[in-house]
Amino acid sequence: MRLRNIPGAREEMLVNPFIVQDPERLRGCWRAEFGNQNPLRIEIGMGKGQFLLTLAQQNPDVNYVGIEKYSSVLIRALARQEELKLQNLRLIRYDAETIDELFAEGEVDRIYLNFSDPWPKDRHAKRRLTSDRFLARYARILAPEGRVEFKTDNVDLFDFSLESAENCGWTLSEVTRDLHNSPAAEGNVMTEYEERFSALGNPICRLVATPPRQ
Ligand code: SAM
Repeated sequence: MRLRNIPGAREEMLVNPFIVQDPERLRGCWRAEFGNQNPLRIEIGMGKGQFLLTLAQQNPDVNYVGIEKYSSVLIRALARQEELKLQNLRLIRYDAETIDELFAEGEVDRIYLNFSDPWPKDRHAKRRLTSDRFLARYARILAPEGRVEFKTDNVDLFDFSLESAENCGWTLSEVTRDLHNSPAAEGNVMTEYEERFSALGNPICRLVATPPRQ
């Protein structure tokens, strides 16, 4: 069965208490939603949630929001959250095209992008989650010391992302084309796609980028 066709997934998203409904209402109020002043970190395109659920368990003093476009994928993360009931994690079904309607200026401490869809055709470049359009949105919602952390095995997407970040005035750091054989391997939490692609022998690329100061 294709994941997109899981019956009832969309309906489940509308009633499940672990899915934030109408998330735009929490714009600027996320710390109140969690009931603390802890940093807020988000993953865009969380898929089935292995990465963010692990981080949320490891770091109870950090708040996490997982964002995923498709109910049929998010439902897998939801099933795990129903077991774990992590208080520092919220899940949202949402298209990141309008991510800055979910978070106020400076509200987010860190954005994780893991194995984002590559959109290989030039005419679709704007859809890549590291294109200039998305970086402009991230720059608005990130705190002054905030950062984007991006991992992929797709070299073309990685090169595009480095160029896009530089062209938009972002500062790059911790750039590696072989994460698993770099100092950053220690403490690295693997995503589902990361496990799959590294098992095939693909090196994993990673970068950290901080937005230009306003
Ligand atoms: N991050 C996970 C991992 O590393 O295992 C999943 C990677 S999967 C290749 C990319 C995910 O991003 C898919 O689940 C897709 O639905 C989601 N996605 C793509 N574009 C998105 C968007 N604009 N907003 C939210 N999610 C998106």
